[in-house]
Amino acid sequence: DKPPVAWLNAPQPGTATPLQRRHAQHKGSFGDVRVVGGAASMTGAALLAGRAALRAGAGRVYVHLLDPQAPRLDTSSPELMFGGPLEGAQLGPQTTALAGCGGGSDIAQVLPLLIEQAVRLVLDADALNAIATQPAWQDALRERGQLGLATVLTPHPLEAARLLDPHAPSVSGVQRDRLEAARQLAERYAAVVVLKGSGTVIAAPGQTPWINPTGNAALAVPGSGDVLAGWLAGLWSPQPGHLDAALSAARQAVFRHGQLAERLQPDGRALPASQLAAAIGSPADPP
Ligand code: AMP
Ligand code: MG
Repeated sequence: DKPPVAWLNAPQPGTATPLQRRHAQHKGSFGDVRVVGGAASMTGAALLAGRAALRAGAGRVYVHLLDPQAPRLDTSSPELMFGGPLEGAQLGPQTTALAGCGGGSDIAQVLPLLIEQAVRLVLDADALNAIATQPAWQDALRERGQLGLATVLTPHPLEAARLLDPHAPSVSGVQRDRLEAARQLAERYAAVVVLKGSGTVIAAPGQTPWINPTGNAALAVPGSGDVLAGWLAGLWSPQPGHLDAALSAARQAVFRHGQLAERLQPDGRALPASQLAAAIGSPADPP
């Protein structure tokens, strides 16, 4: 017997565009995104995520770079602001935290604070690798979920394999049954799980998982995952912190990320991640 699964569809008009920007709103209406990542030589990953969050509609986007030497300016996105070391007071109810993009091993230092205090938390890349080796943080993540603080995990297959078994990670094991891998992670961490790759799977505790039909090999480039994570965070930030809102942001971001790649590069030639980020919200990316 095959487990039930649903295709991820184009967002329904009026429901899946959670953000109608009404005339008299101001930037404070759309929440803040704080991206924590960008260790030495990987600052671009955090900048790509920040750019995507801006274009997705977040009110203010702060990048907290882990590399102390890196310039605190993105000349291609001068709207981005830069924070120092992350502080608990910055994780108020209006904030969506995205951790991991280009984070290296330094990301581990901020994870306990994020897991304990972030109202909306997206964990990607090295944040997932760090959690995979720390049973205490895994317990803390589960507790977050039980307290109603939503978390989204966005692993690619190797990151998922490490989360499932850090001692003997098996990518082929994950790929053999992607639905089951995503479902297991969602239950184990009480989180929304986005298992990336061709046919991205989205799973949430107690729900039938979805498979995304959009996207092509144009996305098989460095940085496309950082753009997805920032896009997701930017769609979530104006919405409530609960799991349903996280799930709706994840579904919309994953579908549109693939759809936009298909429109920009229908033949699957490589699409630089900075071009993908820059096209969010353009005519090629209808709401
Ligand atoms: P990452 O591995 O973190 O850089 O993320 C890569 C992103 O590109 C994820 O969102 C993947 O789902 C997406 N992606 C990569 N290759 C493909 C593909 N062949 N078809 C569809 N999506 C892809
Ligand atoms: Mg990645």
